[in-house]
Amino acid sequence: MSHSSDLARAASAPASPVVTATGHRGLDREEALIFELDAEGRSGVDLPEPPPVTPRLGGLARRRPIGLPGLAEPQVVRHYVRLSRRNYAIDLGLYPLGSCTMKHNPRLNEKLARLPGFADLHPLQPEETTQGALRLMHELTHWLTTLCGMPGVALTPAAGAQGELCGLLCIRAALRAGGDQRQVVLVADSAHGTNPATAAMAGYRVEAVPANARGRVDLQALKARLGPDVAAMMLTNPNTCGLFEDEIAEAAAAVHAAGAFVYCDGANFNALVGRVRPGDLGIDCMHLNLHKTFSTPHGGGGPGSGPVMLAAALAPYAPLPFLLREGERLRLVERREGEAAASFGRMKAFHGQMGMFIRALAYMLSHGGDGLKQVAEDAVLTANYVLARVGDVLSPSFPGPCMHECLFDDRFLKGTGVTTLDFAKALIDEGFHPMTMYFPLVVHGALLIEPTETESLDSLEEFIAALRHLAAEATAGRAERFTGAPHLAPRRRLDETAAARKPVLRWRPPDRPRAAE
Ligand SMILES: *Cc1c(COP(=O)(O)O)cnc(C)c1O
Repeated sequence: MSHSSDLARAASAPASPVVTATGHRGLDREEALIFELDAEGRSGVDLPEPPPVTPRLGGLARRRPIGLPGLAEPQVVRHYVRLSRRNYAIDLGLYPLGSCTMKHNPRLNEKLARLPGFADLHPLQPEETTQGALRLMHELTHWLTTLCGMPGVALTPAAGAQGELCGLLCIRAALRAGGDQRQVVLVADSAHGTNPATAAMAGYRVEAVPANARGRVDLQALKARLGPDVAAMMLTNPNTCGLFEDEIAEAAAAVHAAGAFVYCDGANFNALVGRVRPGDLGIDCMHLNLHKTFSTPHGGGGPGSGPVMLAAALAPYAPLPFLLREGERLRLVERREGEAAASFGRMKAFHGQMGMFIRALAYMLSHGGDGLKQVAEDAVLTANYVLARVGDVLSPSFPGPCMHECLFDDRFLKGTGVTTLDFAKALIDEGFHPMTMYFPLVVHGALLIEPTETESLDSLEEFIAALRHLAAEATAGRAERFTGAPHLAPRRRLDETAAARKPVLRWRPPDRPRAAE
């Protein structure tokens, strides 16, 4: 047996020889499900017995107790605090999840969003009582249109992907208004996966435009495919390889010459804000992710906000409601008539994610135009620093500098028995959330790292040291350290496929048979 495999066995040994009686690991306690903590008759509140009523629910009246767990208040508090300690968050450490832009959420934003004048608003309040909130939205649209160099904005979409749908529906409405029934949307291979999904959802036939050897849209292939059946071209810039689509202006001109629109996925605008105006690149329509570029919190499914920027040709088709200024007053246009006669309809109830608007505007105002420009510069600098410091031990997928994130593939793991997944899981043992894995699909076994611009040099160096150490371990043949990773997390490898395909969403007492979930 070789020296290196001895070391490998040592590396995969349990971290501690202690087996505890309680199952807890130090002060990291195992936690039962809240239903398992239930005790009949126990409660955190004393409610008066309700007066007798005659139920009018007919056959719908509940026959059994509702089945909520009974816990005292301190038990509830401990349960959720213990669970919250299992969470990894941007407030705990570096979160290099490529494409997701896990930015620091400044506390100033939170403070402003909690001002009672904003926090206590109700969307059905009469407009004369919400003029301040509407002014905030108006100021936000001013910043967004100025930064993007595009005249229109639809504030309502609740996420980037919903913004994409909103944009394509505007394009479809604009084409149909001219009697044009084009059926095809071209999507760059280097675009985000939501782009083709959105085009399909909007009823279009999706065709891929390949990437060239430089990881960008293949301009010749695009030009060859353009024709009278193409409604739009969708691309992401910077693209999902973290690269600037440097031929975008020429691509946009070709798309326009074919009578189609250019949709740009602007989720990566944090690399461009203050430095590039997308309108100048020939983009007709682009969503922004306030929850990425403008630092509003996200994760765990929300909340998001995906305003859509629109060129003049698309603005009349924007969804309801939208803001209109009449002298000193602001009003939300709610009906499809007059100035809104061409609107394609509605994306969601009400006016959008007010809490996110407040935080995003606070971020813009506290940074100022020059500060936002520096944000983009620092995001690009930070990612290039990581690329330069680990480029010799991981395998960068494309030569040259990157934008706000750097892409590696699994060539450096060849012959080691370690996969991208193993490598990413080992990063958890080193105290970091893994990078994005196996995305984008244009390279094999992708590892996509987006460090974000607020990381200090110390924090970057610690992360870089962990990456370099793991790369050395993998190439030294210590595969077992990786295949079993994470060793030090409360749970090891979960069956993520089963969790996604067969989620168990209801708890049942153990003595009752489990129906198909
Ligand atoms: C995050 C992201 C999206 C989707 O945005 P959501 O707000 O998660 O719907 C789309 N495209 C790119 C490039 C992204 O990074």
